Amino acid sequence: MSEHFDIVIAGGGMVGISLALQLGAVLPAKTTILLVEGNAIPAAGDGGVSDYHPAFDARSTALSYSSRLIYDDIDVWDGLRQSLCAIESIHVSSRGRFGSTLLRASDYSWPALGYVVENAWLGNALIQQLHRQGRVDLRCPAKVIGARPDGKSVSLELESDGLHDRLRAGLLLVADGANSRLRDALGMAVNEKPYRQHALVANIASAEPHTGCAYERFTDTGPLALLPLLRADGTENRSALVWTLPAEQARYLCDCDEVEFLQVLQERFGYRLGRLVKVGARHAYPLSLVQSSEQVRQGIVVMGNAAHALHPVAGQGFNLALRDVAALGRVLAEGIAAGVASGNLEMLQRYQQRQQPDQDRTIQFSDRMPALFMHADPLLGLGRDLALAGLDIMPSLKREFVRYAAGVARNGG
Ligand SMILES: Cc1cc2nc3c(=O)[nH]c(=O)nc-3n(C[C@H](O)[C@H](O)[C@H](O)COP(=O)(O)OP(=O)(O)OC[C@H]3O[C@@H](n4cnc5c(N)ncnc54)[C@H](O)[C@@H]3O)c2cc1C
Repeated sequence: MSEHFDIVIAGGGMVGISLALQLGAVLPAKTTILLVEGNAIPAAGDGGVSDYHPAFDARSTALSYSSRLIYDDIDVWDGLRQSLCAIESIHVSSRGRFGSTLLRASDYSWPALGYVVENAWLGNALIQQLHRQGRVDLRCPAKVIGARPDGKSVSLELESDGLHDRLRAGLLLVADGANSRLRDALGMAVNEKPYRQHALVANIASAEPHTGCAYERFTDTGPLALLPLLRADGTENRSALVWTLPAEQARYLCDCDEVEFLQVLQERFGYRLGRLVKVGARHAYPLSLVQSSEQVRQGIVVMGNAAHALHPVAGQGFNLALRDVAALGRVLAEGIAAGVASGNLEMLQRYQQRQQPDQDRTIQFSDRMPALFMHADPLLGLGRDLALAGLDIMPSLKREFVRYAAGVARNGG
């Protein structure tokens, strides 16, 4: 008889570990939870950012206010504080056009419009909290290589160091990323819309400080964001660049020398941060909108990038995934307390019904924004300029934008 867990999470990236922490915090101690991750996870007390597995790479993530509330609830936020840079304002502009707008946290009595954290530090805080919580069993490095629904449970095959093992899960949470093999193996179809663009990601040092301002600039080749970062060693003004470009340009700009790279970036971005003086390691990610057409089955839920991978321009993908995590935690806690089995289809469908409107709205927003701002139609361009200028002169509209960016509009909060 193979080992049984009430819940198995396949994939310990940013979403899988957050899920483990959330479920560990809200579910009763008798509910057994296992996290399976393909890469090694650093041991308790290993604080060095170099110890990370590839899911916690050189990127940075802009966390919304709603993510702060979720991480506060599961005791992650305190461990993150020292690595966060608060976004005090967002400057939105369009290259070669007159419209621009400045959104300020202080205008809305918000503590911040968001918080930027380097993924490596986020990974560190999540992993250390997972060890401190000590509630979830870990198998890593190990992979879930097969999943087969088996009446009221799911039969799983694991592989680690060439050894194979079987176990059963009441509920399998599939969090193995955008190219999810498990989702595909289970025959859960995906809709994929390639953007035919890459996101070029790098840290940039500038002559002038960012003063907590995030820049979102729309250009004819795609949007470009510079997010404020903490100073690395007290000397450099640093920002995290996410630059959406046609694939060929992204490849070229990844490989060209630093002087040329900075010249091109300066020309596209302008001098709002003074002279751009240094660029760190450059990475390019191909972009597409990936949506699982089915997220829930008896005993199975698809989560994180495996459920929906978004265009990064609006910085919404992970924030949305965290709201999914919190919602699933609430539904499972209610159901399990009432004696419902962890994989019960009706309970899982309730989760999906609750999250679907948020998912639809966020995915549409992330999908339409870059297209709108790249449109070559001059009339549409004019409309866009007016929209940006309008944001500045219409406080209520601006307020809605800020509340949306903060991820709380849906709660009416
Ligand atoms: C350039 C860029 C910038 C972004 N910026 C932001 C932002 O500012 N704000 C925001 O909200 N979002 C942002 N995002 C989105 C965010 O990065 C994703 O939402 C997030 O990384 C998704 O994490 P995940 O855990 O679902 O997937 P992944 O990070 O892909 O993790 C999947 C994990 O599963 C493991 N795995 C795979 N197969 C198996 C298996 N069979 N068994 C066990 N383990 C397995 C892998 O080792 C990995 O650890 C950005 C994305 C990009 C590309």
